Amino acid sequence: MLVRKVLFLLGACAVASFAQSSEASKGTVVSNRAPLQQNAFNPLPLGAVKPQGWLEKQLEIQASGLTGHLDEFWNDVGPNSGWLGGTGESWERGPYYLDGLLPLAYQLNDPTLKTKAQKWVDWTLTHQQADGQFGPPKNDDWWPRMVMLKVLTQYEEVSGDPRVIPLMKKYFAFELRELPKRPLRDWGKYRWQDNVYSVLWLYNRTADKSLLKLADLLHQQGYDWEAQFADFRYTTKETKEKLGLQPHHMPSDAAMQTHGVNNAMALKAAPIWWLLSGKASDRAGLDQMLAMLDKYHGLPNGMFSGDEHLAGPDPSQGIELCAVVESMFSYEEALAILGDARLADRLERVAYNALPATLSDDMWSHQYDQQPNQIACTRAHRQWSTNGDDSNLFGLEPNFGCCTANLHQGWPKLVSNLWMATEDGGLFAAVYAPSQVHTAIHGRPVSVTESTTYPFGNSVRFAVGLKEPQTFPLVLRLPAWATTASVSVNGKPFSTINSNCAATADRFNNQQASCDVSKMISRVNRAWNNGDVVTVTFPMNPRVSHWYRQAAVFERGPLVFSLPLDAEWLQLKHYAQKSSDWQLQPSTKWNYAVQLGACDAKPMEHPVSDTPFNVKNPPVTLQVKGKEVPEWSVKENSAAPVPASPVSSRDPLRSLTLVPYGAAKLRVTAFPFLQEKSQCSTQTAELFRIGTK
Ligand SMILES: [Zn+2]
Repeated sequence: MLVRKVLFLLGACAVASFAQSSEASKGTVVSNRAPLQQNAFNPLPLGAVKPQGWLEKQLEIQASGLTGHLDEFWNDVGPNSGWLGGTGESWERGPYYLDGLLPLAYQLNDPTLKTKAQKWVDWTLTHQQADGQFGPPKNDDWWPRMVMLKVLTQYEEVSGDPRVIPLMKKYFAFELRELPKRPLRDWGKYRWQDNVYSVLWLYNRTADKSLLKLADLLHQQGYDWEAQFADFRYTTKETKEKLGLQPHHMPSDAAMQTHGVNNAMALKAAPIWWLLSGKASDRAGLDQMLAMLDKYHGLPNGMFSGDEHLAGPDPSQGIELCAVVESMFSYEEALAILGDARLADRLERVAYNALPATLSDDMWSHQYDQQPNQIACTRAHRQWSTNGDDSNLFGLEPNFGCCTANLHQGWPKLVSNLWMATEDGGLFAAVYAPSQVHTAIHGRPVSVTESTTYPFGNSVRFAVGLKEPQTFPLVLRLPAWATTASVSVNGKPFSTINSNCAATADRFNNQQASCDVSKMISRVNRAWNNGDVVTVTFPMNPRVSHWYRQAAVFERGPLVFSLPLDAEWLQLKHYAQKSSDWQLQPSTKWNYAVQLGACDAKPMEHPVSDTPFNVKNPPVTLQVKGKEVPEWSVKENSAAPVPASPVSSRDPLRSLTLVPYGAAKLRVTAFPFLQEKSQCSTQTAELFRIGTK
């Protein structure tokens, strides 16, 4: 069967010298094959999008940090891994590591990282068993293979290696035979949708109908996430006692169903299943899931709480790094399938806030759990649902090593999904960030260079590169927080997009947007010449949203802002190279209430450095005013629950400088607000849009 090559053919991006098999999909955009539903947007193959500007620097930091060096000193992804034929770790950690290392290597075109990744891929491709099983023979768990399959699909797209598709065909035939005898269990049962993802990837390239049977079987054996959220019972913080957790036992069903990472991965379950079922209820499943998670467990950093289980909306609760990167991947897939621009807003909120916040600036250390109100990162008992005392340290493997292995996919998969293809041969700028996309339209090469300091700045410039004039649509997204956007082509106004979405609803506060989502996409469809420039500009007025106990959170564009606390980094333990565990203690006060409607709360923009999420040189700051609230104290080594607003204080009013959440490693994000408003309240409505929760 020939691959359905849909309008795009990646330009000269040769990275391997394998002969192309008839089913290889290197560099092509592949759309869904009947009877599957069509995606709203089709993903571009790995390698089509390259980071630029601050984002490229971020990936270079990642390559110089844990991702580029973890295998040199951390045994679980070292040379004795079962995924390299050794006797060591033979479960999820090798595949997790590769799921980020491999795309990073190709996006940076880094030969050292490519060689590192290739070793794992080659072992996997050359050690398939006669019955079709692959991976370490001593471990037959379905789950870690679901991760390695995602690695192999990315690798095939960028390399065209003809060994990948035959391995996947043989493995899926094995899985179809074996699953009735040895059904999904444990983690695999709750993460079945990630298996289906790779099954559909292969179906679109081979048209083998038995793959649809396999997808159906995985769905039947997998956990019904849609049913969980249609009648949602887990509306309060979980505890070990409620979940019946016992040391050295597999987690209970309730523990698996409330597990933060399982829920983050399941955000894509209903959209992926809709591709097969076509049912409206499946298409709406993600909205229902998000409504429940927002309402009962929503945090202002774009995530829901999960430390390690669902933990309620208190901003002192945590969320695990694995859940951050898995929710990003889920939003990327769901956005491509459903085309709902609100999912891109959610993706940006997680990627530009929760992700950088939980990694050190040099990406040599990370947390297990981050807290929106995080006043100390110390080894101490905290009010986690079930996690241990090390969970918010910055280190090599605080609490547990899953995040150490899994964190690597966050930035690279975001890069892969900055751009998507439209069915009519256009390009969709799905998530704004400095980047360059290379494709071919109607067989002719096209590039678009996206220059911007977004999310710090409010203007994005697209320069089209062509050998000869071409007609195709360039599709732009209007974020929900932007009430309007102006688009110009070659300096001349093209259109103004208006949306009342953000004005009427704060969708991160469990309000359904009442606007027409279709208005949030603008298509610039024209005959393009080489060098044409499109500029889109959004007003980025500061705004306030309201959360747990009415707490106020300041936002601007996709960024959430926090009061950074001065912190000393105290080294607790050194491992190797630049890998250490660190404790952070605050040396400044944190318990402030803020004044809303402050007319001097204007943003200040500064040059964007190579480390934009460093607290010392934030690209944008926000001045607000507040007063100390002495009764807001420490409880269980975290900020006590935010006092219910409004509050009063006899403390003098003082200026507070807020920085992007991702830069403030110790911080207060959700504040009580003062009874009194600023004197210039007539400007309030313009400056702040007050949320509705
Ligand atoms: Zn983890």
